[in-house]
Amino acid sequence: MGIKVCKFGGTSMADANAIRCVANIIKSDDERRYVVVSAPGKRYSADAKITDMLYACYAAVKESGDCTECFKSIRDRYMEIARDLKIDIDLAVLLDNVRDNINKSKTPDYAASCGEYLGAVIVAAYLGYTFVDAKDIIKFNDNGTFNEEYTNDIASKTLAGVERAVIPGFYGAMPKGLVKTFSRGGSDITGSIIARAVQADVYENWTDVSGFMTADPRIVHNPAPISELSYKELRELSYMGASVLHPESIFPVKYKGIPINIKNTFAPNDRGTFILKEVSETDRLVTGIAGKKGFSSILIEKSLMNTQIGFARRVLSILERYGVSFEHTPSGIDTYSVIVADSELVDGKLEKVMNDINKEIGPDHIEVFRNLSLIATVGHGMAYKPGTAGRLFGALSKANVNVRMIDQGSSELNIIVAVSNDDYERAIQSIYHEFISPIAQ
Ligand code: ASP
Repeated sequence: MGIKVCKFGGTSMADANAIRCVANIIKSDDERRYVVVSAPGKRYSADAKITDMLYACYAAVKESGDCTECFKSIRDRYMEIARDLKIDIDLAVLLDNVRDNINKSKTPDYAASCGEYLGAVIVAAYLGYTFVDAKDIIKFNDNGTFNEEYTNDIASKTLAGVERAVIPGFYGAMPKGLVKTFSRGGSDITGSIIARAVQADVYENWTDVSGFMTADPRIVHNPAPISELSYKELRELSYMGASVLHPESIFPVKYKGIPINIKNTFAPNDRGTFILKEVSETDRLVTGIAGKKGFSSILIEKSLMNTQIGFARRVLSILERYGVSFEHTPSGIDTYSVIVADSELVDGKLEKVMNDINKEIGPDHIEVFRNLSLIATVGHGMAYKPGTAGRLFGALSKANVNVRMIDQGSSELNIIVAVSNDDYERAIQSIYHEFISPIAQ
């Protein structure tokens, strides 16, 4: 018999009805032995995610030393789920402990981890599976980085002795036991770590959509689904804004080439998207299009820049000094630009960076262009195919989109363009219709 690891996201955990769907999915296939859960997410669009509510509890502790008031609505949500599912555990006591620990621990990571912890306790009780705490098997180093090999060792040994388990996603522990979380959406990474540890045949990632779409449905009407993606394509698309799966979730499963299958809890018979080491659909030119708004470009002009050795290093070390991460660095003979997400340039960092560039680099001219978007057109099929870039820029030109920057990945898997925020939607629609679904003439 094979082994399937199933990770269920926040919408699949949002209330008792969703958890019943989760249980039906698990019970319908004996191979679904290891289950990773997120914290309950939104039940309707104006609802709050438990994780956000827990961060608010942490903020309350920081401000007033106590989160009792703030914790009440979290408590109510879990109590309602447990009551509705008729679970026989003393959840009230557990919730009191969690609240007291949030008051005592005073760390945002501990507070946030409780959403997954409580969700997993409930699902384990409902399914009759063993609860295995993530802090015992997911390990971080003292500096907060993930300790991959130690985790794999300890997780595989622990789970070898457990026939069926529910494990909270999102968090683990540092050497002295302090709880540490992954970045937001990190339960996807936990699922992948568990899939590697138990050498699963497939890592099923259950969410509220039937897989990846070739473009964002808010921009392109009814986009075609993607049935297969390679790990590399997934990296490019998810990093550039296709938010179905955390961009780091492929690393653990990559070692063994375990497929990830994105599935929909609320339409379980849909095939979803398979993310594989290699894809079989060879005739496909473009696999998908993704993009993000909110970037700025810092343009530095300096005559004879091309003759200066170490120019780029000096500019980038200024960014590093202020902890600013950059996306692209297109350069010309006398010009050098750095494209940075606006979220990196808050708290006066842009001014500090500009100031230091002026002082240390002495540019002839420096200017910041704001309101840029980045769009990635991704697909293995584009590599070594003459004419792809021509078609892409032809489509953008027909749509009257001005291209502000071009970056083609070295593997030819990805062509990234920067356009003005105002052109963003139009640019994506034009690329989509050029490569994926031509508009009928
Ligand atoms: N609950 C966490 C979040 O909201 C982690 C996750 O759902 O994957 O980001």
